[in-house]
Amino acid sequence: MTTISTHPPPAPTTKARLLDIMRTRGTVSRVELVGAAGLTPGTITNVIRELLDDGLVQEAGQARSTGGQPRRLLRLRAQAHYAVGVQMDRCTSSVVLADFTGRLVAQKTLQGSGSHAPGEMLEILASRIHHLLEAEKVPFESVLGISLVTHGPQNRVDGTLLAPRPTLQWYGFPLVSTLSRLTGLPVILENDATAAAMGEQWLGDVSAESFGVIYMASGLGGGAVVNREVYRGGGSNTVELGHITLDVSGPPCECGNRGCVENLCGTAAVVARAVRDLPLRRRLGLKDNPAETLNDFNRISSAAVEGDLAARHLLEDAARGLGQAAVTLVNLFDLSTVVLAGPAFSTAGTLLRDHISATVNAAAFNRELQPISVVLSSHGSLAAAIGGSLQVLRTASDAKERRTAPPSFLTRRTPPQFASLKP
Ligand SMILES: [Zn+2]
Repeated sequence: MTTISTHPPPAPTTKARLLDIMRTRGTVSRVELVGAAGLTPGTITNVIRELLDDGLVQEAGQARSTGGQPRRLLRLRAQAHYAVGVQMDRCTSSVVLADFTGRLVAQKTLQGSGSHAPGEMLEILASRIHHLLEAEKVPFESVLGISLVTHGPQNRVDGTLLAPRPTLQWYGFPLVSTLSRLTGLPVILENDATAAAMGEQWLGDVSAESFGVIYMASGLGGGAVVNREVYRGGGSNTVELGHITLDVSGPPCECGNRGCVENLCGTAAVVARAVRDLPLRRRLGLKDNPAETLNDFNRISSAAVEGDLAARHLLEDAARGLGQAAVTLVNLFDLSTVVLAGPAFSTAGTLLRDHISATVNAAAFNRELQPISVVLSSHGSLAAAIGGSLQVLRTASDAKERRTAPPSFLTRRTPPQFASLKP
């Protein structure tokens, strides 16, 4: 039961397009919708009437008159529906709740998956989701679903991970069906970097029609939006920036490749170098434990920002490698914008951004056309979770109109088993 995977994704329906436009722009007039959607006024009038009847859109007063008839304004009805985004990393996890406009209603940061068996971790997440809905007094019936956002490689159709990370137990474990059973809600599995790209596209500050994302948590991944569409390639494991080769003679990676960017410049690689520097290790109190990688990385980042030269050199080295990866990303998709997202950029984001930008703007093939803009995500460390929740809002609205269920997003499924969960 209860998966909301659709692959390959079909083109959005007219209703879903209009909802997307309103989600991005906020309050709009019908005339603005005609221009933005490229549809006739008659079509807009008819579709908006249906959206008003469905309770998804509401009137929002009138625009100030510029001489003609005042324009009646529309906006999404925020309480029409809600969506949950869950970002799950080995070192840290986040649960976010978004209303129908995509506005962040509530968030909770909790432990990562690193020290838990999959079933145990999913129970913790289900419990947090339940308590978040309860605390915000959000009716269960109004929640469209959950996007479980995590690392790859993954099989979105089966709702499983195809890597033995953080432990062998996680390989092939039915993540989606288990979380769905525990919560009673539809669940979709999504790649963290792809989710961050979606969040940036719909509610971020990036206006470019094509842009790339470098997502760094305990792992390193990439995403791309190309001509306004999230690029999915042939499956759900696209733009795996962490596993392109930076050094053909470099160490073998568990992915099967050699000299991978993640192994040379990712958070674990930076921490491993810092740990080998015994004075630095002692000075920063590094734990050197896989479940603590992000915390250790943040200790190094804080020290670098505060002027610790050894810490700063480590980050600058990593940023040069990340910059090389960004050059590949830009060259592959002919991009002018790269967004840096994920918890690893939360402390020394500006320092990393400046060095990545310098490398990209010295080496990208298209740099003479215009400078490559390298920016920090407007959603910070919650970028992937927020992107996941937006994806649910968008996918569910689209599916409802298509009536291509199963599943029907707005029909309740099995009763939730929240009551059996520990607080
Ligand atoms: Zn690799």
